Amino acid sequence: MQLRYSYRLDPAPAQCAALARAFGCARVAFNDALAARQAAHAAGEPYVRDAELSRRLTQAKAAPERAWLGEVSSVVLQQALADLNAAYRNFFASVTGKRKGPKVAPPRFRSRKDCRQAIRFTANSKFKVLENRRLRLPKIGDVKVRWSRALPSVPSSVTVTRDAAGRFFASFVVEVSPGPLPETDAECGIDLGLGHFAVMDDGTKVAAPRFLRRAEKKLKRAQKDLSRKQKGGSNREKARVKAARAHAHVADARRDFHHKPSTKVIRENQAVTVEDLSVKGLARTRLAKSVHDAGWSAFVSKLEYKAKLYGREFRRTGRFEPTSQVCSACGVKDGPKPLSVREWTCAACGAVHDRDVNAAKNIAALGRREARNACGGQVRPPLAMAPAREAGSHRGAA
Ligand SMILES: [Zn+2]
Repeated sequence: MQLRYSYRLDPAPAQCAALARAFGCARVAFNDALAARQAAHAAGEPYVRDAELSRRLTQAKAAPERAWLGEVSSVVLQQALADLNAAYRNFFASVTGKRKGPKVAPPRFRSRKDCRQAIRFTANSKFKVLENRRLRLPKIGDVKVRWSRALPSVPSSVTVTRDAAGRFFASFVVEVSPGPLPETDAECGIDLGLGHFAVMDDGTKVAAPRFLRRAEKKLKRAQKDLSRKQKGGSNREKARVKAARAHAHVADARRDFHHKPSTKVIRENQAVTVEDLSVKGLARTRLAKSVHDAGWSAFVSKLEYKAKLYGREFRRTGRFEPTSQVCSACGVKDGPKPLSVREWTCAACGAVHDRDVNAAKNIAALGRREARNACGGQVRPPLAMAPAREAGSHRGAA
């Protein structure tokens, strides 16, 4: 499985200038190629092939007015063409219906003003992580990296980006194959709530750390400010940069915070169930939703890829179920409860419930039920009833 490992870069001033030049050259290579294809299309000529674009790029470098393209690694330019080719392939696949999902727009010209600038170095560009822990980028230099965690293997490529807040990142593609963890009978349901970030069916509650909550509050304010500013005004530009910076901070804080709880859940459980966020989001206001849902979907996608990585089962319950209204002990629907009600007693069986833990238990049960339906009644029974496991055989039907 291929994963991306991202780190912040601290390029020296001269390296920043070299990177800016490289972003610019990649952009020109991309835009020239796009213009060539568009011109051919407008003239009724055949589609310009990938190899032809590559040949024209080599030609352009020999011409005086494009000679400066030679100042950057040729791999960076070739990768810009590869990006364009991939964008075209996606577009064609979408038009012809080969690719499902939302329609893909045709490739657009890249602009100096785009929020995100990027260049990619593949292995044959000879980029290298040096002994002194710097990242050697051809024709850029040895750039300082903030190694927040170790790379698990030798990367096959690295993408260097500059975000809207002016920060640089290196994103390495690495092959990871940890293989499945030892099997366990434990399963877990997770309720994503407003009170706590996440609540597990065993009663564990995960709170968002204060630094993240503060960053999210700041982001909400910045978004509100931005939406109030007149389009085209200089104040709007300032507000945009501020919002972009707040966004970047929240994204970083989330990455740091989500890793630990998602790894823990996947290590300790064979299957994990979450509610579909589109269902979850129905009840909330727009602004609260945008910030919270982004956090949850980032967390849920970590759970999903880690489940895949370690041979665990990831389930998303798709239907709307009143998980906070049903008693997880006896299954009786007790009726809606305002958010202020944190604890309630089931009128039917007398069980006392923490609102969120009860919801998580219902989600876990839903996950089990859906898994059972999906495999035609064959499912492992809950832990308490599980008979001794026989190697290779299916467990008895529930
Ligand atoms: Zn009950």
